[in-house]
Amino acid sequence: MHIEAKELSKIYGTGESRVTALDRASFEIMPGDFVSIMGPSGSGKSTLLHLLSGLDHPTSGSLTYDGRDIYSFQDKELSAFRRRCIGFIFQQFNLLPVLTARENIIMPLLLDKKQPDTAYLDQLTKLLGIGDRLTHLPHELSGGQQQRVAIARALAAQPEIIFADEPTGNLDSKSGSEVMDMLESIQKELGKILVVITHDNRIADRADRQFMIIDGILTEVTA
Ligand code: ADP
Ligand code: MG
Repeated sequence: MHIEAKELSKIYGTGESRVTALDRASFEIMPGDFVSIMGPSGSGKSTLLHLLSGLDHPTSGSLTYDGRDIYSFQDKELSAFRRRCIGFIFQQFNLLPVLTARENIIMPLLLDKKQPDTAYLDQLTKLLGIGDRLTHLPHELSGGQQQRVAIARALAAQPEIIFADEPTGNLDSKSGSEVMDMLESIQKELGKILVVITHDNRIADRADRQFMIIDGILTEVTA
């Protein structure tokens, strides 16, 4: 997949409460890119990732995946595209509390009326070190384990693109770096696009391409 954003902007509110969360961002992401986006709190990082993944619509600008403008998709087409092509990892894990780890992981497949690929899921959960935790409910797991379940869920449909919004923000530094190691090895071994938002320098430095966002203005800072 080749992602291209042109002059992407998002403005919230009007009058006194008007906020330009993202100010005319233009960039390209190539197949296999590992991109990090750093910036202070409130600088527009989540806004950008939500626009990139089609979770939200911009005020102006365009976004294409292999030349196709995803904001022109009908709702149904956009959700199907998101389920098949994009894995999204949230800072707060967002697991469903009444479902077991396994049920959480296969939920996106069930929504898409797809049979889980058991061999792939076994391999994935083993790689993530949660193979023996699959019958547990989220509250029976540590934060690091919950985030690894969320990663398995994001990868269950074998998407080509992974977006992670501060995936280690709720983890201690040891589980945080383990989670990053896993994301990075999955990105490298399977040749996926990985876009990680962080305000941790050490995480940003792992990426091949680094962006900064300040007051909604995005700049590439890769040396
Ligand atoms: P970050 O993820 O970098 O902390 P966000 O993208 O969440 O920043 O927010 C960027 C700016 O947009 C902030 O000023 C925030 O208050 C504002 N903002 C985000 N979402 C909304 C919303 N739904 N309504 C109004 N303002 C918002
Ligand atoms: Mg955010």
